[in-house]
Amino acid sequence: MQLSKRIMGLTGGAGADSGDDGWGVFYRARAMVAAGTRVTELTIGEHDIGTRADILDAMHRAARAGHTGYAMVPGVQALRRAVAERVTARTGVPTTADNVLITPGGQAALFSTHHATCDEGDGALFIDPYYATYPGTLRAVGARPIAVPTRARDEFQPRGEVIEDSIARAGGAQSLLINSPNNPTGTVYSRKTLETIADTCRTHDLWLISDEVYDTQVWDGHHLSPRALPGMVERTLVIGSMSKSHAMTGSRVGWVVAPVPVIALMIDLATHITYGVPGYIQDAALFALGQGSALEEEVAAPFARRRMIAIEALAGQNIVRHVPLKGAMYLMLDIRATGLTGIDFANALLDRERIAVMPGESFGAAAAGHVRVAMTVADDDFRNALDRLMRFAAEAAAAAPPKQT
Ligand code: PMP
Repeated sequence: MQLSKRIMGLTGGAGADSGDDGWGVFYRARAMVAAGTRVTELTIGEHDIGTRADILDAMHRAARAGHTGYAMVPGVQALRRAVAERVTARTGVPTTADNVLITPGGQAALFSTHHATCDEGDGALFIDPYYATYPGTLRAVGARPIAVPTRARDEFQPRGEVIEDSIARAGGAQSLLINSPNNPTGTVYSRKTLETIADTCRTHDLWLISDEVYDTQVWDGHHLSPRALPGMVERTLVIGSMSKSHAMTGSRVGWVVAPVPVIALMIDLATHITYGVPGYIQDAALFALGQGSALEEEVAAPFARRRMIAIEALAGQNIVRHVPLKGAMYLMLDIRATGLTGIDFANALLDRERIAVMPGESFGAAAAGHVRVAMTVADDDFRNALDRLMRFAAEAAAAAPPKQT
């Protein structure tokens, strides 16, 4: 018997992310931890705090009050309304409950938005470097992932002509997926970048899928949702999530904000895959959103502190450079001065210092020569890990053969 080509080709197939995908070091670190070795893990985007106790109490109360049966497939009305009000308040774009679909996390929202916008074989653009699930998600809906490269020297902001080129190379495209604040680079797209993206979407009649799951983690500048730009509300699908903003990664609750007819069709899709999100989880999310920005700031505060720790620590040397740290819970470090690839650097750092970071290459070719450091351990451990990483980099740079000129 034969399994579907779609499932067999989901990961690692010939596509934008083929070749050494850089995830080996992550699995090696996990195996070392399982074998009892103490490793400082700065790999995945998981807070070092858990979900706050009062949110868990709200979840427990909801479950004990009987909200354990099938919940409304589009999401409970009160939560859809709360998300709509939050989006309206943050962006100024009038948004109602009918514009909102509650999903099991941002990941399901990524799948649903592409399922809704792309037919089999359609070109689906995404920006490289990218969040690791992107190409697989696009393949999962039958679309053709098309990477749009960005450059470190542009602070990984996409350029209009490169998007145009990618569309031409692909023979046309149906959607463009962006993510600002960005994982893995920590970049926040400027108004100019977003206006260029919006222009390109209008010119080529693309759906814009805007992954904004880090919208509460902006350290420098402002988050601008492209849905708020002129002529974009009817072609933009926004992805949100409680995972990063409220430290609720395991609760699996997020949403899509989109035009009403698009949401109506995605509700049909949800009926056939998830049948909704558990009611007690939705009640907990509603409670958490009701805490307003104070809770969001509390969850973001450790990353804001560690960002400053990193800026101060890195200022004392010039081997490891950081991409300007504008948002999200990651540092993207340029380690090219060591002469190592991101993969070799990360593997050697794990062996020598027992520090696990992600090779840039695991997020696409555009991040080669970089490593991503998640700011997800206690401040002192973080400072200590950075000091050791810089010492290691300095030694590697000293041992590197001189550059050919
Ligand atoms: N988008 C980005 C850019 C992410 O980094 C993540 C999680 N790391 C997600 C979407 C998915 O998050 P979740 O499904 O937990 O909401």
